Formats: sequence, structure tokens, C-alpha cells
Amino acid sequence: MPKVKTNRIKYPDGWELIEPTLCELDAKMREAESDPNDGKRKCEAFWPIFKIAHQKSRYIFDLYYKRNEISKELYEFCLEQGYADRNLIAKWKKSGYESLCCLRCIQPRDHNFGTTCVCRVPEHLREEKAVECVHCGCGGCASGD
Ligand SMILES: [Zn+2]
Ligand SMILES: [Zn+2]
Repeated sequence: MPKVKTNRIKYPDGWELIEPTLCELDAKMREAESDPNDGKRKCEAFWPIFKIAHQKSRYIFDLYYKRNEISKELYEFCLEQGYADRNLIAKWKKSGYESLCCLRCIQPRDHNFGTTCVCRVPEHLREEKAVECVHCGCGGCASGD
């Protein structure tokens, strides 16, 4: 019998343990993307999407770096399949960026003032206590907040 060629992805061991959570977040993401956003400011429409993308990356990051619950193979697999953002995770490993919300908030060209988003300013240095950045709706992600 000739072998049937398939495009099936080979899932590394442990995938079945994280699949339900990732599927749930994927479903939420689709919901957020199809949300009509009536009455919301344009920038706000993207906030839930950023938030869920962040959750997915954080989930994978925690499992691998904090809890040691998944193998390197599975971790790499998740990055390759787009379940987590490699660039964002790289930032989380740096001191001062441990809770960074998204990559846009540290891109100087995206900000009218200074080189960083308002949500990156530590709470005790902010004049206003409550913030919501325009990029992802983050209410503060400086380390130590
Ligand atoms: Zn932020
Ligand atoms: Zn952000």
C-alpha cells in the first residue's frame, strides 16, 4: 500500500494539556474580531484582540519559563504555530519589561510624547492614577505596578 501523504501537523507531547485553554482563547479572539464595535472609538476596537493575544503569549510563557510544565519542543511549537508572540516573550525576559502589554507600547514612533506609552510609566510617577493607553487599552504595565 502506498503511503498517504497528509498535511497533518504533528503535535508534540503535552499538547493535549494546553489545547483546551488555547482553543478557548482562540474562540474568544474570533468573537472579538467579529464584534461590530458599535459606538466604540476606533482604537478601542482592537483592545480585546490585543488583550487575548497577550493572554495566549502569557499562558505559554508561564508554562515554560515559570512553571516548567511544557517541553521546549512544545514551547517552540506554540511559537511556530502563532499561539504565542516570540518578540513579546523576548521582552518579558528583560528586566523592567516583565509585564509589558504589547510591543506597540514601547515603540517610540507611535507616541506623541516622549519615547514610551503612558502605560509604561510606573504608577507612582504618573500624575493621573487611572490610565488607558490608546494602543491596547492597557491600564499600566510597568514592572512593580
Ligand atoms: Zn502597557
Ligand atoms: Zn500595549
